[in-house]
Amino acid sequence: MKMKTAWENYDEVQRQTLERLCAGYRAYLDAGKTERECVTAAIALAKAAGYRDLAALRAADEKIGPGSKVYASCMGKALLLFQLGSLPLTRGMRILGAHIDSPRLDLKQRPFYEESGIAYLDTHYYGGIKKYQWLASPLAIHGVIVKKDGSSICLALGEQPDDPVFCISDLLPHLAQEQVQKKAAQVIEGENLDLICGSIPLQGEEKNAVLANVLRLIAERYGVEEEDFVSAELEIVPAGPAREAGFDRSMILAYGQDDRVCAYTSLVSLLDAATPQQTACCYLVDKEETGSIGATGAQSAFFENTVAELMELAGCYSELALRRALAASCALSSDVSAAYDPLFGDVYSKRNSAFLGGGLAFNKYTGSRGKNGANDANAEYLGEIRRLLDAAQVCYQTAEMGKVDAGGGGTISYLLAKYGMQVVDCGVPVISMHAPWELTSKADIFEAKRGYDAFLAATAAHK
Ligand code: MN
Ligand code: MN
Repeated sequence: MKMKTAWENYDEVQRQTLERLCAGYRAYLDAGKTERECVTAAIALAKAAGYRDLAALRAADEKIGPGSKVYASCMGKALLLFQLGSLPLTRGMRILGAHIDSPRLDLKQRPFYEESGIAYLDTHYYGGIKKYQWLASPLAIHGVIVKKDGSSICLALGEQPDDPVFCISDLLPHLAQEQVQKKAAQVIEGENLDLICGSIPLQGEEKNAVLANVLRLIAERYGVEEEDFVSAELEIVPAGPAREAGFDRSMILAYGQDDRVCAYTSLVSLLDAATPQQTACCYLVDKEETGSIGATGAQSAFFENTVAELMELAGCYSELALRRALAASCALSSDVSAAYDPLFGDVYSKRNSAFLGGGLAFNKYTGSRGKNGANDANAEYLGEIRRLLDAAQVCYQTAEMGKVDAGGGGTISYLLAKYGMQVVDCGVPVISMHAPWELTSKADIFEAKRGYDAFLAATAAHK
């Protein structure tokens, strides 16, 4: 049987729209390799679309109403954006929630050491990685260093063509007879994922002269000293821009597409939206890859606190009104899905897999080994979603992460569902998910945007 893909549906105009969207997406990926950078880039796009800072509106005691466009940032690492609808907030919101943190290596608080004439940076990995994938390839350092006086230095080193890059060493095959027999998890120990960062000794220095030279260069260039790294958040990510992939340029190969592919499409869907009936919301959140813990993760009160502030500005806040607004909402937990990979076909249940180019993928439930930890979406809600996607002629598919006993994963859906709202997981299928370079289909990105557009434009029946 010939597999049907979204590509078959497109005319010339749609292909051009698709290419424009994906060019914008690649630019967003290049501007946002950390959650902080993703928030900064999203705020710039939002401001250009007429969105205003909730904190500023509050300070000016300005009231808001239908059509008002508002954003709120949490520590520069999570972001909420709203476009107020014509219906009262108690009729619920339509929420697109995606995460903007991605697997990576973080620098430790005391990262510097020298060994055998090489200066190193010590790291602790973040999220689920296959450690061996990070060896012997160019890496960049992104993040922030906060000095004792409160000033901060933002870093993105390794992205410009003439920037230096960094790397973690791997063993030559000639001497790897024992290494290649090891389990993949032990090919490199987490403790040894350390970055090579210099090799010229400082003249006249006796001990750790290479490290002394590296620290001298850092002090010269950034005005920071070794001690300042104690109050820093520096992330090691693959160096280089997002690329088009394939002879037909049908795919995108890039770092951090889980879940910036859903974050970007959700964001631009909201920014493009005409004034809806129900308030439209985009939630870009941090820390999903480590369990959504922390002030900027989906377990924090940032979401409901911000909705409370929004209702206050709209002149309709009460504790009960807030509860009603949250419970009457419906959400797409926009997170990537595993795309069927024929080279690893044995871990997938083919009939229940998402395929590259098959369109926006819905996971009714996630979790692992007996739906553990799953948010299992309501059949009635999926029925509504099917109706609105079919009406908008969006190409979509349904999927599970893989075979029942093969493993699994989670998203932020259960955290939105705890307010009693309707939530289902859906997103773009990814090949090589969590690898330094992940692969997606432009058609799926386009269908995700079209699906989110249709979702935000719809209105749930009054219950
Ligand atoms: Mn994800
Ligand atoms: Mn993930």
